[in-house]
Amino acid sequence: MTLCTTRQLVPTKELLQNALKGKYAVGAYNVNNMEILQAIVEAADELKAPLILQVSAGARKYASQAYLIKLVEAALNSSTIPIALHLDHGEDVEICKACIDGGFSSVMIDGSKHTFEENIAMTKKVVDYAHPRGISVEAELGRLAGVEDNISVSEKDAIYTNPREAKEFIERTGVDSLAIAIGTSHGAYKFKNEPKLDFERLEAIKAAISADYPLVLHGSSSVPEELVKICNDYGAQIPGAKGVPEFMFPEAIKRGIAKINIDTDLRLAFTGGIRKHFVENPGHFDPRQYLGPARAAVKELVKHKIQILGTDGKAAV
Ligand SMILES: [Zn+2]
Repeated sequence: MTLCTTRQLVPTKELLQNALKGKYAVGAYNVNNMEILQAIVEAADELKAPLILQVSAGARKYASQAYLIKLVEAALNSSTIPIALHLDHGEDVEICKACIDGGFSSVMIDGSKHTFEENIAMTKKVVDYAHPRGISVEAELGRLAGVEDNISVSEKDAIYTNPREAKEFIERTGVDSLAIAIGTSHGAYKFKNEPKLDFERLEAIKAAISADYPLVLHGSSSVPEELVKICNDYGAQIPGAKGVPEFMFPEAIKRGIAKINIDTDLRLAFTGGIRKHFVENPGHFDPRQYLGPARAAVKELVKHKIQILGTDGKAAV
């Protein structure tokens, strides 16, 4: 399927190469519905930031790929920035192929729960299918803790990425970008104590691979206190949530991270917007009345993220 638009999606490879050269990171924001998509695209378009929209298997199930593709098509037609559409955490070769055939410009094959050799074999299969079609592929090596699409990985099962394995993995698969595990985790509860990322390991990975190879950081929401507070002030119960502090992003970017995934923060902003509206306007029941402010809250957050990651003004016009 091709998109019905004169503007085409761009592969993530191109965006990430530009990011490495320009020493910034491209935010990859998870999309589940129209309002969140509009918020992200409006924010990026206003700040002239290249953009990665990503869809998880859960989002595909929730909204259906056909709807999401049409929404992204509308986003392309109503903006001027380069946009990639990326599958987040494809668990097998089939889902990656389905997304490639459906019009995505990038896919992630996540074989991180399998053995090193199995991970290589499945990643290679996706690369062989994707590259002749001009589609970028991301893979994952190492294993993040946390909860992603209801799959939970405990802290003791998390495995940090081995630099030597990273080099071998990239060479044998030809994958375009690699998600690594250096201490981030999925969900709102990333750190029990002080947030800590293993920057030494990141440097070692970077030293082992080619200097212009883009690395990806998953589980990188900051879980801002003020967003959690809005949710909790208006009836939520989200105690003790802790994310990646924003000052760590420039440090990560300096060491070769070119794509940073953000999902939880969008959820918090959206939920906070809805909760606040309901409490302040108990008589309202028109979805536009409460989804509008939620969308505005996500837009404001994404603008902030774009500035933190240095992506503003980087869209080639
Ligand atoms: Zn992830």
